[in-house]
Amino acid sequence: MTEENNNSVMCCFCGKGIEYSFAVQLSMKPSPDSEEYQGFYCHPICLDNLLHKDVPRHPDLLTNESK
Ligand SMILES: [Zn+2]
Repeated sequence: MTEENNNSVMCCFCGKGIEYSFAVQLSMKPSPDSEEYQGFYCHPICLDNLLHKDVPRHPDLLTNESK
């Protein structure tokens, strides 16, 4: 993974860099009983494109989208 700058993280869906302040942070538990989380970052639009249309979006998801 290459960082574009100090404030850049990688989108877990498209693999491109995203500015930290524009990233969505995802927390994944490998199983419901797991006590450990794995964190991911992604573009709001990548998450929106991948979620099934019937999954409700958090109201803030697409409000501070980067250009
Ligand atoms: Zn992305």
